[in-house]
Amino acid sequence: MTDQFDDDALAGAQLDTLAIRSGISRTHEGEHAEPIFATSSFVFGSAEEAAARFGGEESGNVYSRYTNPTVRTFEQRIAALEGGETAVGTASGMAAILATAMALLKSGDHVVCSRDVFGTTTNLFSKYLVKFGVEVDFVPLLDAVAWQSAIRPETVMLFMETPSNPLCEVADLEAMSALARANDCLLVVDNCFCTPALQRPLSLGADIVVHSATKYLDGQGRCVGGAVVGSAKHMTEVEIFLRTCGPTMSAFNAWVFLKGLETLRLRMDAHSKAALELAQWLSEQSAVEKVYYSGLESHPGHRLAKKQQRGFGGVLSFQVKGGQEQAWRVIDGTQIMSLTANLGDTKTTIVHPATTTHGRLTDEQRSQAGIERNLIRVSVGLEDIEDLKSDLQRGFAALG
Ligand SMILES: *Cc1c(COP(=O)(O)O)cnc(C)c1O
Repeated sequence: MTDQFDDDALAGAQLDTLAIRSGISRTHEGEHAEPIFATSSFVFGSAEEAAARFGGEESGNVYSRYTNPTVRTFEQRIAALEGGETAVGTASGMAAILATAMALLKSGDHVVCSRDVFGTTTNLFSKYLVKFGVEVDFVPLLDAVAWQSAIRPETVMLFMETPSNPLCEVADLEAMSALARANDCLLVVDNCFCTPALQRPLSLGADIVVHSATKYLDGQGRCVGGAVVGSAKHMTEVEIFLRTCGPTMSAFNAWVFLKGLETLRLRMDAHSKAALELAQWLSEQSAVEKVYYSGLESHPGHRLAKKQQRGFGGVLSFQVKGGQEQAWRVIDGTQIMSLTANLGDTKTTIVHPATTTHGRLTDEQRSQAGIERNLIRVSVGLEDIEDLKSDLQRGFAALG
């Protein structure tokens, strides 16, 4: 973990500048691009210095499970973009959520989590944390009464994702922050879908942001990684967990994410523009029953998304007329889009949530969550929008 950049020249700088400039500390070689420090350990000038570094009396690198200069640059940059005091890089998005939970929860604690979070996050809470005496209740993202009534004296954390996957439901981050504060809980927000280019939960009162850097921060589907951003006090705990238990970010992956961050805003704006155009086009297709995208005025979260997000993001979903068979035919009829559950890539991806990402839910749970068998999710990439429309047209033609 490292403090947010302290480069005076960047004080008050805007997001685009921070995304490109923050966190850099040049070596004596004068390199322009950020170097990759591919080293597991670091050497000391003397036995005394080694002792001081190990004892924590002197700061400096010791071992890349603790700190690594390339990872540090990434940490400073994502902290600057999210407007957080400090950040820690992790091996994956799940490692970011695990580290947050392990560092800040203890046996006997209670967590209230949105029902509409990433499936593996649900498993992490309901399968693993319960083994260590942490209880978790899941509530619908938009049901304020359910959040309020799930909170009990042992509740220490509220965990959520907004916008939700795959229906783009939008939670009111200011209201959720107020609820957390009133009950002495931490509000943790998974900001994977919007990224700091579109939404900054800490500025709306959240305590901690977690990321899967695998998605839009990389943006080109190359590396798996994650990050946790928040106050120095909380991040110190998260860092100690990572140092001790090991799911830290690799220097190479940190370097890839640094390159991704440089174009984050451009990409997020382009993803949002393309997704809006595709959503509008889909709404006009006779084979489509309903489109879910918060950029559409018909979406219940539209006004709130407009208020708390800078853009509506790159993920949308839609129901085709019919059932699973029709949805599968549309998906199999496309030829350009990649049939994969990943998202946040320059490559457009298409997937059938009911039988993949949400396949483990019972029919009842799935219906409650609004994920019907005729639903298709698209993570809109940066190909030419007309080609994407033609590709979906091929899918609709396959309906016969
Ligand atoms: C992918 C994802 C994760 C998990 O991230 P990994 O990098 O795959 O471990 C967590 N939250 C959301 C919203 C995601 O989409």
